[in-house]
Amino acid sequence: MPGWLSGYVAAVTGGASGIGRSVVERYLEEGAATVVVLDRDTQRLEELRAACPARVVVLQGDVREMASHQAMVEAALKHGGRLDVLVGNAGVFDFNRPLHSYTPDKLVATLEEIIAVNVRGYLLAAMASADALAASRGSMVFTCSIAGFHAGCAGTLYTISKHAVVGLVRQLALELAPEVRVNAVAPGGTLTDLRGTAALGHDRRSIGIQLEETAGAIANSTPLGFAQEPCDHAGSYVLLASRENARAITGEVLMSDGGVGVRGV
Ligand code: NAD
Repeated sequence: MPGWLSGYVAAVTGGASGIGRSVVERYLEEGAATVVVLDRDTQRLEELRAACPARVVVLQGDVREMASHQAMVEAALKHGGRLDVLVGNAGVFDFNRPLHSYTPDKLVATLEEIIAVNVRGYLLAAMASADALAASRGSMVFTCSIAGFHAGCAGTLYTISKHAVVGLVRQLALELAPEVRVNAVAPGGTLTDLRGTAALGHDRRSIGIQLEETAGAIANSTPLGFAQEPCDHAGSYVLLASRENARAITGEVLMSDGGVGVRGV
């Protein structure tokens, strides 16, 4: 039986690790012809290329830079001849820091870095891919977060950045209709290697460092009672990308949070 994304050409930012990598693997399982992965992590890109050599094209770059997104779209057109879906996903975290914990200088530097990766990185990806997606009647799927809707799931700056993603999805869904659908997936706490900002010296710090502790905390605070793995979200990205199965869906954020959003935090 053909997969839901049979023959699709996809581009995924932050696809070398965590949720993005799981989306790449699942898109391949669903029959994607080519998946271009843009990430800053050279070593993990090489690991991905070694694991999936046939239909994956890896590109080292920075989502804060337009040139990286242009190279990603050019690679999709060169290797796949088209682009059917953009997954904007690369992100950084603030490790739950409240406003009062910053000095003014650190606040500004951290704000600029988080917005540059989590918001500007999505906007530039959208800008670079819009024409190719319009030509294919394709779609964009962004990674939002439970923190895009609720306070108390992250710190001030990450929460602001993910609320901005909700606005970005809704506005672009209107601006790019009828050619391009624009949606997002909002994961709850997930066991990944999500890093912090260089501005705070946290770019090597990972939410996954104390994996057992993190898993227990997520499971205890989630109505469905388990800590989510990256693969638990991948099917939502398949659904939203699929023309056949999501033809009428645009401007939506699909919660994939184990029920946290139902109860509120
Ligand atoms: P991850 O660190 O495993 O994956 C993120 C990837 O993005 C990494 O491969 C990293 O190298 C890449 N990246 C980061 N900054 C980049 C940049 N400037 N340029 C290019 N690549 C860059 O973490 P993850 O949890 O899989 O994060 C993916 C997305 O999921 C993020 O947007 C994050 O905010 C979101 N999210 C994560 C959780 C969670 O609990 N892990 C929950 C909700 C939303």
